[in-house]
Amino acid sequence: MRKTSPGRYARQEILPQIGVDGQRKLASATAFIVGGGGLGGYQAELLARAGLGRLRMADRDLVEWHNLHRQVLFQESDAEANVSKAEAAARRLREINSTIEVEVLAVDVTARNALALLADADIVLDATDNFETRYLINDVCVKLAKPWVYAGVVGTVGMVMPVLPGSGGPCLRCVIPVPPEPGTMATCDTAGVLNSAVAVIASLSATLAVRILLGAPPAEIGLLHADIWNMSFNLMKVKRDERCPCCALQTFEFLDSRELFGSSALCGRNSVQVTPARSARLDFEALRNRLKRAGNVSSGGLVIHFKAEEGEMAIFPDGRAIVADTTDSAWAKAFYARYIGGI
Ligand SMILES: [Zn+2]
Repeated sequence: MRKTSPGRYARQEILPQIGVDGQRKLASATAFIVGGGGLGGYQAELLARAGLGRLRMADRDLVEWHNLHRQVLFQESDAEANVSKAEAAARRLREINSTIEVEVLAVDVTARNALALLADADIVLDATDNFETRYLINDVCVKLAKPWVYAGVVGTVGMVMPVLPGSGGPCLRCVIPVPPEPGTMATCDTAGVLNSAVAVIASLSATLAVRILLGAPPAEIGLLHADIWNMSFNLMKVKRDERCPCCALQTFEFLDSRELFGSSALCGRNSVQVTPARSARLDFEALRNRLKRAGNVSSGGLVIHFKAEEGEMAIFPDGRAIVADTTDSAWAKAFYARYIGGI
């Protein structure tokens, strides 16, 4: 680890909102960013440059060309090599700030691992692309009385809201009681996404995270709804729901629904993620040798790319795979079972 150059944070330390003491607090803080795409990339870059002591991030996906217009941690060579976002993000963040601890995991944050992953974070930032994971973060953070920041962007519109369990303020389910039904909401697939909208919402959520870490959160909790294209910002006052299943009744449906084995089509990807029943630590060397007999194998760092006659997939060390060029979950599971088995 390199030494911090004198004055590295000078322009931040003279801000009355931060100061030398605030900088020290940031240096000893741990943030966990769930998702390493558009929002997560900007959030991570801002927090890394701000000198946040320990930066953790999780992303399940690979870098693709259509990510590059908004995902600032990645470059053309990452898309060309189809590397995992975790690997590319970690490399870039360490280049930005070598004095902080950076850990980026190539995992899917699920009900099985969320408690353990988020347990020692001082703050959690939402950079996901789906409501299931947001409600899971909400469950974990309410259960552990840990602050988190909700953020989402579709098209030119974004939302952001801090959740401060134990403060008497609302959680995500107080404000949006149930996740929208699949197919009822615009997604980045159907509506596209404006890169500057991602930048604005990520900046706001990183600002909230820093304020919370400094012990200076906003006095009143609001849900900000912003249309970046039209420069319209609307801060809605939100209140705790005394019948909220999560923060009032302390039932954690999303955390407790430990689905054993699943496959799900990925947002915007024409690909399906297959998740094994138990988290596994694959013996990559053995798997690579086995797969070589059945098709084409190439591997870069954290991922094995496997191509057989009928299809192709990328396999991660935790046993997950992303099966390309299909939205058929059953077929993807069968393809996985055929070559990797054990599901
Ligand atoms: Zn609530």
